Amino acid sequence: MVASTGPTAIFHRSFTKNYDTAVGGKGVYIIGPDGRKTLDGSSGAAVSCLGHGHPVIIEAIVQQARTMAYAHSSFFTSSPAEELAHLLCSLSNGAFTKLLVLSSGSEAVESAIKIARQYHFARGDKQRVNYISREFSYHGNSIGALSAGHHPQRREAFVPLLSSAFHHVSPCFFSRDGREGEVEEAYVERLVAEYEAMFEKLGSDTVAAVMVEPVSGATLGGVPAAAGYLRRLRQLCDKHGSLLIFDEVMCGMGRIGTLHAWQSLGGVAPDIETIGKGLGAGYQPISGVLVSGKIEEAFRQGQSKTPFLSGHTYQDHSIACAAALATQRTIRDKDLLTNVRVMGNRLEERLKATVPMLKEVRGLGLFRAVEFKTTSTSPLAADVATACLTNGAAVYLCSSAVDAVLFAPPYIISEQEIDDLVDIFVESVKQILEARG
Ligand code: PLP
Repeated sequence: MVASTGPTAIFHRSFTKNYDTAVGGKGVYIIGPDGRKTLDGSSGAAVSCLGHGHPVIIEAIVQQARTMAYAHSSFFTSSPAEELAHLLCSLSNGAFTKLLVLSSGSEAVESAIKIARQYHFARGDKQRVNYISREFSYHGNSIGALSAGHHPQRREAFVPLLSSAFHHVSPCFFSRDGREGEVEEAYVERLVAEYEAMFEKLGSDTVAAVMVEPVSGATLGGVPAAAGYLRRLRQLCDKHGSLLIFDEVMCGMGRIGTLHAWQSLGGVAPDIETIGKGLGAGYQPISGVLVSGKIEEAFRQGQSKTPFLSGHTYQDHSIACAAALATQRTIRDKDLLTNVRVMGNRLEERLKATVPMLKEVRGLGLFRAVEFKTTSTSPLAADVATACLTNGAAVYLCSSAVDAVLFAPPYIISEQEIDDLVDIFVESVKQILEARG
């Protein structure tokens, strides 16, 4: 018999690091075995938007588990799945008519890629096999999603396995990449020209979709699309008959102060949108793909020949849908997006006023990154994130493409908790700078 190795048998993210056990959670805090509280300054990875131990979500999960935990989606639907889809579509001002429910953001991205392909297939446009996405984007860890994304560390070992159907153009990062004297509009036109060149190179009738994060998250840290960028992408896609996909797994579901990030960024809706993380606030693993009436129509027309060639065992999971439904209703009924905007502004002001070695505070709502003024040989962010955890706050470390950490606290955060978070962060930065002399 194999001896039990206890908790160490978990295939942890790192084999060299010791992980504290989270034994509880209340509000914005995660509680350790000794009762020590850690302020969840990034909601994990922008997930726990209602904080921890929320009684309404717990009750919804328990109720649904008692009623009906799981019935396979090939045979049955469930009330929470139907109600969740109805709620999200009705809150989208007509942008979306259907919701596909899955379990992770990566699965949602994989499905978005396949839906786009099948949309064209159903219309007889079978040559549309290419996708345009962006350098330094992150769309998930499965092979298709990793192919679409461009996270340097996460891709490196897998490059030979990745799909050659994905073609990357520059990210939209005006504060960094805008040229001396260049206005935002001209910068956007420069990026549009790059897209046009890519369409031309690939053959514009071979492009199935363009996929972007409206606010870059994990790789570049809280970089919102420049003014007019999403609108120009919409025009570009319409001109070339390609679909537009927004990956809002991280920046969506209220994180920047509107339910969909694109609503804060010019109001231009995509054809397909991926959502996850804040959808179920971390109480259950759940993600989704929202599609427009145009996509629905193509699937209906082509349905007899091509049903959606996909399907996952836990698709439309009743308990996950019940958790997400309760989460989204709570956000709406308690008007938590107002708090996201107000607390987000406070977070930005406090960070700008107090952080040493600051290059930039960027982002919107409760999705803000701090980038340090450092050289690539002595980055600060990783050490600061570790020090923060020791000092009682968790913040999210961005990719090595930037020396930055991301703040994405729960939407329920109070003024005092914002101040505590910033104080711990600033103290941690000072400690690291002092230790380095
Ligand atoms: N898309 C974006 C924009 C993300 O930030 C992430 C995760 O960070 C994903 C997709 C993948 O989501 P998951 O980790 O749930 O698979």
